[in-house]
Amino acid sequence: SIRVAERVRRIKPSPSTSAAERANQLRREGRSIVNLVVGEPDFDTPLHIRQAAGRAMEAGATRYTSLAGTLDLRRAIAAKLARENGLDHGPDEIIATNGAKSAIYSALAATLEPGDEVVIPAPYWVSYPDMVLACDGVPVSVSCPEEQGFKLTPAGLDAAITERTRWVILNSPSNPTGATYTSAEYRGLAEVLARHPSVLVMTDDIYEHIVYDHERFEGGTAPHLLTAAPELRDRTLAINGVSKTYAMTGWRVGWAAGPRSLVRALDTFLSQAAGNCCSISQAAAAAALDGDQGFVAESVAVYRERRDATAAGINAIPGLSCGLPEGAFYLFVNCGALIGRMTPTGRRLDTDGDVVMWLLETAGVAVVAGAAYGLSPYFRLSIATSLETLDDGVARIARAVADLT
Ligand code: PLP
Repeated sequence: SIRVAERVRRIKPSPSTSAAERANQLRREGRSIVNLVVGEPDFDTPLHIRQAAGRAMEAGATRYTSLAGTLDLRRAIAAKLARENGLDHGPDEIIATNGAKSAIYSALAATLEPGDEVVIPAPYWVSYPDMVLACDGVPVSVSCPEEQGFKLTPAGLDAAITERTRWVILNSPSNPTGATYTSAEYRGLAEVLARHPSVLVMTDDIYEHIVYDHERFEGGTAPHLLTAAPELRDRTLAINGVSKTYAMTGWRVGWAAGPRSLVRALDTFLSQAAGNCCSISQAAAAAALDGDQGFVAESVAVYRERRDATAAGINAIPGLSCGLPEGAFYLFVNCGALIGRMTPTGRRLDTDGDVVMWLLETAGVAVVAGAAYGLSPYFRLSIATSLETLDDGVARIARAVADLT
């Protein structure tokens, strides 16, 4: 086989992709599998967005665009940032990318020198540490336990920063826990950052609209770090995209907004690494941002119903527990009480990875182990699927757990 570079050998395929593949394989073998791994909305992209893509194709929007994205799209993003987040980034401080994922990777690739550290609160989105590793950086994971609401505290941040720290990555609402920072919590982190002026901040805002219990937040919406701490503007890169908000995961449009010099570095990197993101998708994304926003509230209402029902079902199972996530579309289930228990076939569940494998093999329920997100013993269960599927999954988990000794 072909020898691959060290930078690829030190990373691994996304564990949620591997779990989904294993579930599909079992399905092909004829097993009935409830897939609660998926990290994408189960809704269709709203019709008016699809129609805008059709019009763009008809009108000949089928060529290279400027690398940073069409001016139309960057204006739509700037308007969105102003309207929804109170931010004032102009089109020249914004770059459209092939999904938020590409924006995050490019930002790391454009800034990290070998050995530079990136502070990543855990549990984290699985891709952050591997992206840092692929860019020769050092991921510094900071454990944020459930008692802390899975959130980074000022003391935790302070202890993690060294003279090698280049970035801190904040993801609110968080995948996998749904933890969502308040303005006061952001202020606390900003006070620490004030003492470390060379540290850059990346905010991954991809789930910003998928927030429940709006009354918890001042002004009724989850705040942005830069609204709470505007003094961080000249060293913060705000990452977002249309994937989760508008059920547009396949269209691959995300963006980064931040200081011009940093955005220009991403532009240079991507001009050689990838090129502009799909011209037709850009037109669709502009239509999503500029158009009717009804879909957002409707889909969040559906997620909320599923969240409440599924969390109640999980909490009724002895040995499992989960809080109500404040945002995103996952439950992060504590399975600590199952560790050390025995399966009917005499296998001991020693880790959350064992729990997840056992649930897949015996109950036919696919979830992802907390270890993948940097915090054990938990598993992540996606609620981006129908209530019937969720009910079936919870019932299967309950039956399997009842058989443990
Ligand atoms: N950030 C987080 C926290 C995510 O969960 C995901 C998708 O799973 C992304 C970024 C990537 O989004 P995109 O589809 O825009 O690349």
